Parts: sequence; C-alpha cells; structure tokens
Amino acid sequence: MDGARPSPDRHGARRLQAGERVLLVDQRGRRYLVELVPGGSFHTHSGIVHHDGVIGLLDGSTLSATTGRRFVALRPTLADVVLKMPRGAQVIYPKDLGAILLAADVGPGLRVLEAGVGSGALSLAMLRAGAEVIGYEVRADFAKQAQANVAAFLGESTRYRVEVRDVYQGISDEGLDRVVLDLPEPWRALPHARTALRSGGILLAYLPSISQVATLRSALEHAGFGLAETSELLRRTWHFEARSVRPDHRMVAHTGFLTTARRLVAGEAQLSSAR
Ligand code: SAH
Repeated sequence: MDGARPSPDRHGARRLQAGERVLLVDQRGRRYLVELVPGGSFHTHSGIVHHDGVIGLLDGSTLSATTGRRFVALRPTLADVVLKMPRGAQVIYPKDLGAILLAADVGPGLRVLEAGVGSGALSLAMLRAGAEVIGYEVRADFAKQAQANVAAFLGESTRYRVEVRDVYQGISDEGLDRVVLDLPEPWRALPHARTALRSGGILLAYLPSISQVATLRSALEHAGFGLAETSELLRRTWHFEARSVRPDHRMVAHTGFLTTARRLVAGEAQLSSAR
C-alpha cells in the first residue's frame, strides 16, 4: 500500500518524484493537480511549468513558470485529491468525510461495507483511517474509476475490494463492523445490513434530502437498529487580508445529512430507539 518511495532527506521530507501527483498553487491561490512526467510540461494562465523543474524539489518548494510567475509545489493532501480527482459520481466533500469517519467510528482493522462507491472519495478516507473496505457499486465504470482514484493516491491495496453489484439485492459478507451507504434509497438495504452487521455494529447513511432522511429514520425503527442520530455540518471559511478579517461571503451551505444507528441484538430494538 505504501509503495517504494525514496528515503527521507535530512529534513525528513521526501523529494517530489516522477510518477507522483503534485499540487501546484499559483500566486492567486489557483490549484492544479499534476502528475509529474519526465520531460513533461504543464500549461496554465500563469505560464508553463516544466515537470523536470519540479521533480527532485522538496515538498513545499517555490518555483517559477516560464513567465516568471511563482508557484508552490506540494504533495497533495487527501482533501486536495478528493476535490481535484476525476469523478464519475459526485464526491462527498472533505468536511463530511471527516465527520463520517468519527460518526461511523471507522478505524484500523474494522471491516466496512460501502455502497455506492461512486468516485471513491469516501473509500480513500476510510482506507486511510486503516479500515478494510468492501465496496458495492452498480455501475462498472464508476467502480473502475474509484479503484483508479484509490490506487493513484494510496497505491494498490489488499484492504480494498470493489464488486459491481446492487446492494438492494443483498450483502454476501457477514460479521461486518460498519455499513456505510451513500445512495438514494438506503432503507432498501436495511434488511441486508441488519444481517450482515455484527451486533453493536454501526450503520451510516449520507443523504442530500431531509425527506429521504425521514423515510430512513422510520425504517430504522422497524429494522432492529437503535440510537439513531441525524446531523449536518456547516463549515464557514474566513477571509484574512490586512484589517479585513471576516467570514468569506460564500459558503457551501448544504451537502448532505449524516444518519447513524447501531445494530442491536434482536428484541432490544424497541427499547433503544426511544430517544
Ligand atoms: N460516496 C461516493 C459517491 C457515491 S455517489 C464518493 O465519495 O465518491 C452514489 C453512488 O451509488 C453512484 O455511483 C451510484 O452508481 C451508486 N449506487 C446507486 N444505487 C446503488 C445500489 N443499489 N447498489 C450499489 N451502488 C449504487
């Protein structure tokens, strides 16, 4: 998973190398994700950047384009990659990825079933948190895109398996620790999730519309789940410039609602869903 990389230099940073993707940020804050190819060049509004001038630099170096405009070259974070990587389906935004990891308590060694996989943004976050991820995705082209996105950032992983299949038709895996659903009708997967999850396991669904959440919440009550919770996350960035320090004018006001519930031992669902 963490493929062969050059050894750290005395500053503890690995030098940027051919074959990896770097984030180039220009003086106006525009960001570009570029795969470094020997002899390659990258054309932007701010001029041409020759890859050979980036290969071998320390992470965080500043360089000049042919126009003399300055760029910073950085190894991208998971959030940078999610926002820039090729998408089939709409990705889950970083603010929600972070919240999902904690809400579904995703950690090392846990077995997670994820459906649908889409572009693989959530897969990336859960794999990086150390989980074993089994993905179900109905669209073969999306499944392929997700696997390519994961491999490009994390390398080939034995902890990641994607199957082209419909989660509403059933879940073959058993004894799962978590089931994470990002698809339009998660309630149709509840009977399968109930069987596939170990007791005490967590189900999480990510939904854009509150009417979907209402349908899910009422289905959860009758499906052997308890301690259901729904939340949304609002993230407001700030503008800092001389004496103008204030919230940014624009924000992403809505993405999706997170709903979690615990899989209870049979017969105890009624008690615990009374919150
Ligand atoms: N969480 C993903 C985005 C998922 S978009 C990410 O972060 O990148 C929703 C995905 O669910 C789509 O790719 C769609 O094809 C898939 N999907 C919809 N219904 C499904 C089903 N019944 N079984 C499996 N996948 C499904």
